Amino acid sequence: MNLLSIGGSDPSSGAGIQSDIKTFYTLNVHGLTIITAITSQNTSSFGNVEPVSQKILKNQIESIMTDFKIDGIKIGMVYNSQIIKILSKQLQKLKIPIVVDPVIKSTTGGALIEKSAMIDFQKYIIPLATVITPNRFEAEILSKIKINSKKSLRSAAKKIQKMGAKNVVITGIETGSKGISDFIFEKNKECFISGDKINLSNHGSGCNYSAAVIFALAKNKTIKESLRFAQQFTQNSIKNARKIGKGIAVTDVQD
Ligand code: PLP
Repeated sequence: MNLLSIGGSDPSSGAGIQSDIKTFYTLNVHGLTIITAITSQNTSSFGNVEPVSQKILKNQIESIMTDFKIDGIKIGMVYNSQIIKILSKQLQKLKIPIVVDPVIKSTTGGALIEKSAMIDFQKYIIPLATVITPNRFEAEILSKIKINSKKSLRSAAKKIQKMGAKNVVITGIETGSKGISDFIFEKNKECFISGDKINLSNHGSGCNYSAAVIFALAKNKTIKESLRFAQQFTQNSIKNARKIGKGIAVTDVQD
């Protein structure tokens, strides 16, 4: 099985493309990659970002699309409008599951998308999503709804679905002192998938989650099965998090 990760390079290998390659390797599938931007960052701080040129982006897409059967795609960091439009043009004709991880800001505070690209992100990338996986912060930014009740959670998910995503999962909703849940919003069904509350301040957990979702969807699991699998996978990666640098711990998908 071949899964494609489209996103940014993280030299600390905690998140982004490098993290997805680790996840796919651990899950025993081949990880293909299309790099949209190079970041300089580590576990303490985020330096800067350089998006790749249109030419090399298009060439990467062509290289991958003309050679491989692709079973599923995860889209992470897309950074600017130029990249968004090129990706949308190439991906909208595909009939395979696509997971969109709408990353906006890294845990260390770096911008993963330009502010001016948010409208195009909503217009061109969200409609590609079989499943979109915002955390609470990202869901609030996308929906412009403050999430502070079950009603507002549902309204935010509905609004994001209206932008064109088939299914929406808002991750990391705190439910009391011990619980954390993911809120699933399918066509007309909704539910929570509950897990254990674990440390949220780490680098890479969102990437682990969305990469695990595309793995399960590509294996023909249902939406709910895929999201349950991804929650388990991510909880393990957080439990295995290691302090490899001077800053926050980095999740680890290895056993
Ligand atoms: N850097 C890149 C390239 C990413 O793609 C992401 C998330 O997708 C991050 C950083 C953010 O990771 P975190 O918020 O887990 O620190």
